[in-house]
Amino acid sequence: MVNAPVITVPAFAPARSGVRHFFGTRRHATALCLETGAPMRAAGNSVRASWLLSVKQVHGTDALVVDRPLAEDDRFDGGWDALVTDQPGTMVAVRTADCVPVLVHDARRRVVAAIHAGWRGAVAGIVPKTLALMQARFNADLGTLHVSIGPSAGVCCYEVDEPVLDEVRERFSWWEAVLRDHREGKARLDLKALIRRQVQDYGIDGERVTSVNVCTICHKDLFFSYRREGKVLGTMVSAIGLDPLR
Ligand SMILES: [Zn+2]
Repeated sequence: MVNAPVITVPAFAPARSGVRHFFGTRRHATALCLETGAPMRAAGNSVRASWLLSVKQVHGTDALVVDRPLAEDDRFDGGWDALVTDQPGTMVAVRTADCVPVLVHDARRRVVAAIHAGWRGAVAGIVPKTLALMQARFNADLGTLHVSIGPSAGVCCYEVDEPVLDEVRERFSWWEAVLRDHREGKARLDLKALIRRQVQDYGIDGERVTSVNVCTICHKDLFFSYRREGKVLGTMVSAIGLDPLR
């Protein structure tokens, strides 16, 4: 699609499961120029087009379900932080700088999801909420689906303050497992571990959950980081979709 480096995980190996995916890097994002709210033709000819769709993200917990083929003139004007689709050839994408991109694939029910989880969305439960929606709408099977937690601000660098700490302590009895180095109203939050714990508590075996343990703040060469840069220079694009029909 774009000749620039992306990160992939073995759990979604395409030959085995009929799915394609990537976690983007800064060079990839710069080359891609993704428009939000409008499907972008990703590859293929006009008969069997494949699409890449990203929408406006609002740090909420709602999901956009794409359950029909996309067309050139489709526009999605709302805001959603998760996208779910069962449509072959439609890749759903999220954009992140330090937030966590989470990709989900159920090979048996043939449904995928891309989720944008910052601390707000994660604490509000966007990941388990999206899994519940995949079960309700597409009969997704918790015993077969895979979840991959992508590159994001790591516990090495991601310092949060009192309002975030209060939320985390209030909502999760296991908060101590995801907060490090408490001092003067600050601590470092392990957002990836928080999401992993939610996913496993929801009923997904730990072996089906992979994490890409690289930090967007540490790895300047690979990633944009809102925290490090102090402003939005760019966002990485991460996406997943079922292979187009042949
Ligand atoms: Zn770091």
